[in-house]
Amino acid sequence: MSITRRQFLKVGGSAAAVTTLYSVGIKPSAEASTRSFRLHYSREITTICPFCGVGCGIICHVRDGQLINTEGDPDHPVNEGTLCSKGSSLFNMASVYDEQGNAVPNPHRVTQVLYRAPKAKDWEVVDWDWALETIASRVRQTRDEHFVQTNADGVTVNRNPAISWLGSAMVNNEENYLFHKITRSLGILNIDHCARL
Ligand code: SF4
Repeated sequence: MSITRRQFLKVGGSAAAVTTLYSVGIKPSAEASTRSFRLHYSREITTICPFCGVGCGIICHVRDGQLINTEGDPDHPVNEGTLCSKGSSLFNMASVYDEQGNAVPNPHRVTQVLYRAPKAKDWEVVDWDWALETIASRVRQTRDEHFVQTNADGVTVNRNPAISWLGSAMVNNEENYLFHKITRSLGILNIDHCARL
């Protein structure tokens, strides 16, 4: 009988966990045994880890429209099922496990727009409309005040040294392409991205 890498890891993982518990004298409770099947009846959706440019493959388990688990994709050619500590913690961006092993919403997840005014020490909650309009108007004002059309030799440079742009590994290639279009059109030269995209 042939067995795929994915099937091997699934079976091997459950069996190893039970064997390890028995080997140290712990008999898994019925509840713990049930929890090992917590992924049953879930749907698998594959995605790419958003944290860095390595691009490891991840399986998302979804049940009743809720994400209930994430883990490395054994079929992905980049990571073959492995994940670093950041990728392994992806599930915790949205959920954490309670003491009974049930997934509950992560209480530390930021779900509102927070704004810290210049020289203020505290953050305040603002709405999206205010945040987007404020960002747009401040970018426009900074660009207009600092735009450099020609350098000291009279050469056209059309650059803006007053704004830096930091991208995010949470966005995809197409969004990064659009980010470049925006930044270049504003004359921004100081562009970076944690995944160097
Ligand atoms: S953060 Fe880790 S798991 Fe995610 S893509 Fe990079 S190396 Fe892979």
